[in-house]
Amino acid sequence: MNWEIVIGLETHVELATRSKIFCGCSTAFGAAPNTLCCPVCLGLPGALPVLNEQAVELAVKAALALNCTVTPVSRFDRKNYFYPDLPKAYQISQLYAPLARNGHLDLPDGRRIRISEMHLEEDAGKLHHHDDRTAIDYNRCGVPLIEIVTAPDLSGGEDAVAYLERLRSILQYLGVSDCRMEEGSLRCDVNLSVRPAGSSELGVRTELKNLGSLRAVRLACEYEAQRQIAILESGGQVRCQTCRWDEDARRTVPMRDKEQVGDYRYFPDPDLPPLAVSGEQLNRLRSKQPELAHEKCARYARDWSLSDYDCTTLTSRRELAAFFEQVVSLGAPPKQAANWIMGQVLRRLSADGLDVEEIPITAQALADLIHLVERGTINRNTAVEVFDAVFTGGDPTQYVRAHHLEQSSNTEQITAAVEETLSQNRKSVEDWLSGKEKAAGFLMGQAMRTLGGKAPPALVSEIVRQLLEREKSQ
Ligand code: ADP
Ligand code: MG
Ligand code: ZN
Repeated sequence: MNWEIVIGLETHVELATRSKIFCGCSTAFGAAPNTLCCPVCLGLPGALPVLNEQAVELAVKAALALNCTVTPVSRFDRKNYFYPDLPKAYQISQLYAPLARNGHLDLPDGRRIRISEMHLEEDAGKLHHHDDRTAIDYNRCGVPLIEIVTAPDLSGGEDAVAYLERLRSILQYLGVSDCRMEEGSLRCDVNLSVRPAGSSELGVRTELKNLGSLRAVRLACEYEAQRQIAILESGGQVRCQTCRWDEDARRTVPMRDKEQVGDYRYFPDPDLPPLAVSGEQLNRLRSKQPELAHEKCARYARDWSLSDYDCTTLTSRRELAAFFEQVVSLGAPPKQAANWIMGQVLRRLSADGLDVEEIPITAQALADLIHLVERGTINRNTAVEVFDAVFTGGDPTQYVRAHHLEQSSNTEQITAAVEETLSQNRKSVEDWLSGKEKAAGFLMGQAMRTLGGKAPPALVSEIVRQLLEREKSQ
């Protein structure tokens, strides 16, 4: 029998606010444990939450970019459960009237993934398991989250990854979140079921938690689909369970029967007023929405005739696209700028272990370097040398001058150097005269060396030819 995989994703994204969602504590990642807490986020009796407006603004931005309808008046609810990472014993979330509904995200191949809802909530603390004990860090309690829930529209691990990549790109471009999976600022639960191909009914699903990377998402989906298919093919039934992905064993491990919504005894939070988002606010945020990666991609292709590959690479990160556009705005031809960035800049970043947020060379320096090549002041080889020298700081023009790297397009000077080369390499000249074509290449290399590499290769080559031809006719 042919099976079809059905996946719906619930993605938690930490919002890029400086303070938490209901108190003034910092959201910084990596601080000493339990140093960023106060009575509100620790849930001490009598403490009252106050909603962070910036969190609402970021969440609404995300909702608009994901084509959702924003709920004019949404509400906060308490989701009750008892677990050591949750000192209040409830999480403030939204169930009955979430911030936004009915959106969609289009995958690069055009398929539309429906987003059923997006809501605001607070993060819980973090448990650190050691051999004989578990330590708790409450710093993360109260960090603002949005949870984005898709309809069961994805049909495999590759799809899930494509969705998450596009989602991450959109949210990063908006500045809604840094979406660093390795720091937990983007986390995803996979709901997966299988059904006979062509069937329209949903099968029983499992929920996979603890997926810390895109690779884990892909592998967990593949493993879990095969596991469910094996159960069904042997006549068994899939249990609606919550599973954990075991990264080392590369398999999913059932943890518990999946809780139902009733298990959480949701009720409206009496401490928080309803959240109203006005039409004006929506219009203001809509008008400020930046150009997103796929839109930039289309524009680069249309206006600058860049290839698909170039466009996708350059827009893969907002910082990289911004750098590229800056270099172009300083007068560099787009194709040249693209080549330099995708070749040399990315090469050096990776060699130096830097992220695209940390490009040390300025757009001005790269634009100047490109101009030096365009004008023929230096050739490409020299330019790469200069690039490496000024990558972490410095002015290409000054560097070229200080190191006497200007190439000479002065024909007399080049002719003199070639003549010298020929007289010092008579054997090769004789070889060429007797028909050994290769000797010309050698002489060309020698001439470039005599010139210290500072002449346009095409011109040198032409002069070598001319002088050899002259020898022949003598
Ligand atoms: P819960 O309240 O248990 O989290 P939801 O109805 O909110 O369940 O759905 C959570 C996620 O699971 C959604 O992304 C949804 O698309 C997905 N989902 C629901 N049923 C199935 C199924 N049978 N197969 C795959 N995904 C499913
Ligand atoms: Mg859910
Ligand atoms: Zn606090």
